[in-house]
Amino acid sequence: MSRATTATIHLDALRHNLARVRERAPGRRVMAVVKADGYGHGLERVARALADADAFGVAALADAERLRAAGLDNRIVLLSGFDEAADLDVLRRLGVDTSIHHPSQIAMLEADARQGGGPLRCWLKLDTGMHRLGIPADEAKTVHARLAALANVHAELGLMSHFASSDELRSTQTLRQLEAFRAATDGLPGPRSLCNSAAVLAWPQAHADWIRPGGALYGVSVIAGTTGADHGLRPAMTLSTRLIAVNRVRRGERIGYAASWECPEDMPVGVAAIGYGDGYPRHAPAGTPMLVDGVRVPVIGRVSMDLMTLDLRGVPDARVGAPVVAWGEGLPVEEVAAQAGTIGYELVCSITRRVRFVEA
Ligand SMILES: *Cc1c(COP(=O)(O)O)cnc(C)c1O
Repeated sequence: MSRATTATIHLDALRHNLARVRERAPGRRVMAVVKADGYGHGLERVARALADADAFGVAALADAERLRAAGLDNRIVLLSGFDEAADLDVLRRLGVDTSIHHPSQIAMLEADARQGGGPLRCWLKLDTGMHRLGIPADEAKTVHARLAALANVHAELGLMSHFASSDELRSTQTLRQLEAFRAATDGLPGPRSLCNSAAVLAWPQAHADWIRPGGALYGVSVIAGTTGADHGLRPAMTLSTRLIAVNRVRRGERIGYAASWECPEDMPVGVAAIGYGDGYPRHAPAGTPMLVDGVRVPVIGRVSMDLMTLDLRGVPDARVGAPVVAWGEGLPVEEVAAQAGTIGYELVCSITRRVRFVEA
């Protein structure tokens, strides 16, 4: 039998989550963010499931190539913009919008305009306080005028920014960034876009013309201390496997590498065919939950490359072949992430290539 480790991608959950997001921001256009291979779910399958989105947001030109090759003709926005002059022709050939966040890109656009380059759809990305990508907000008007003067910049020039703390409901940073954006863009024409998933859910006053959800579409928790389900979202990925051994281990015996876990009594120990070689986080400690036959059981011992050990005292009838869920339906990925000191986003993005992907 082939290895059972499987990432099931729930296409209906993706569609359901897009509908929930639209309900939260009625009348706004949706740029579904599908960077990092659709947050690890598979770019093409995610994009086909979300083909109803008004646009896709990607981080790499190669992803735009893949979307076009898959026959998707939605608008596509290259969120971190182009790196070199040669990219401009690729953007034009693929019909992809680019963000403009740095003076080096403006210089390349100006050189391209002198050579008679055709029009590109652009989004001027402003730094309103996150200090990652963006033109300083107080330069918005000068830079906007410089871009608007170029024949190779499409007349509809978008305006965007990104929030640093929209998942923290008590932080005032989002409101300060929103105000900085308003002040910087006051009177400028063009569509506006600010909101990642957390801002879509938590800061409706920032919705503007285009929202840019990513995590929410995959049903991952996007607001600290809540699960996707709390917002009516469904997990788009279930990572599962099977038990390949069930052993009775004596009280006082120790389990796995470094003998880190000691059996407090004679007990059944399950061995699941999954490990960090599949993308399960190695630093998940003993006590991290998994489902066996639909019942929560704790991980015990170290996570190894191919295998993990489970305390089966809560499912004494579990046998070899029993289904095991690492996260997804019935077990929110954020619970595992919290144990492993990370966020659900990182876990779903980290599934390795040997894991079989199936669509459901
Ligand atoms: C990744 C990204 C998003 C989506 O963020 P989520 O938190 O996943 O919703 C939106 N905008 C930009 C610029 C991004 O890079």
